[in-house]
Amino acid sequence: MTNKGTGNGEAGTGEESPPFVPRSSPPIPPRPAKRTPIRTCVACRTPGGKRGLIRVVRLPDATGVVLDPTGKRSGRGAYVCATVECVNNARKRKAFERSLKVAVTDDVFFALQNAVAEKAENEKGATTMS
Ligand SMILES: [Zn+2]
Repeated sequence: MTNKGTGNGEAGTGEESPPFVPRSSPPIPPRPAKRTPIRTCVACRTPGGKRGLIRVVRLPDATGVVLDPTGKRSGRGAYVCATVECVNNARKRKAFERSLKVAVTDDVFFALQNAVAEKAENEKGATTMS
């Protein structure tokens, strides 16, 4: 039989405090401020737009603007809500001209209206799918 001491285990005397390395947390690298240009409708100045914004981009030679449905064209752009009202208002107020400093032809507004109609049509189609 062995007499076991009940939990009398003595820890070694050489008590070592764990090496404490003062660890200053590394400075968080400042995030490169990603500049997100706030898209505002040139007509109603609503950021974001209720129904999405359509982008138009000034041509590099500043002879006019083109629609940019993909939003990927480079160049100075302006946005308008995808609504007939805003497209019409932008036209009336020459909002694109003022914003982009370039003449905007009726063709562009025609294309914009088409884009709005198409968008509306798409949305309608999506909801009335049967
Ligand atoms: Zn608008």
